[in-house]
Amino acid sequence: MKIIFATKNENKLKEIREILGSEYEVISMKEAGIDIDIVEDGETFEDNAIKKAEEIMKLTNETVLADDSGLEIDFLGGEPGVHCSRFMGEDTPYTEKNKAILERMKSARGSQRSARFVCAIAAAVPDKYTIIDRETVEGLIAQEPAGENGFGYDPIFIPENYENTFAQLPAEVKNTISHRARALTKMQDYLSNPQ
Ligand code: IMP
Repeated sequence: MKIIFATKNENKLKEIREILGSEYEVISMKEAGIDIDIVEDGETFEDNAIKKAEEIMKLTNETVLADDSGLEIDFLGGEPGVHCSRFMGEDTPYTEKNKAILERMKSARGSQRSARFVCAIAAAVPDKYTIIDRETVEGLIAQEPAGENGFGYDPIFIPENYENTFAQLPAEVKNTISHRARALTKMQDYLSNPQ
């Protein structure tokens, strides 16, 4: 099945291709010849995912998937949350963002370090429907950044039932248990068997 994935984030694309496997031909916006910036001004992950999927579907008349994701840290009142990529400025390196988060969490102990990655995935199917699903992976914020794999906030997030950060875990493990893996698997089930 051919789908366009409405993202310019190469890290996300790599994960999405690994999660969906060879059954899906995942075309990036660049490969589809689309070079527009979609303003992510929604109040929720769902709003942004639906907006991205529907805008690109209208331009291409193809099935489009879009993901809007982020990290919610309870001790920081849910920050960086839905504004994850803009948090501290889009051009600020994640090493700096992660350092700043850990600094603000210095006094948080044990379960006070709870956090979750959230992923909303929308599928916009031309002349049919748009559907949306949200999945999460719970975990804790690490004391120190660790690991080289993944991207973004991966070096500071330890998923529940594991002792290592997402950036320390092999990609095959992250791509089985992550927020994105869970949401894509649900979407895959739905697209292959729409009710
Ligand atoms: P979006 O493009 O608005 O969905 O922004 C997603 C942002 O959330 C990314 O740029 C990262 O900052 C963060 N993020 C989402 N998913 C992940 C992940 O799997 N690992 C690390 N950071 C993530």
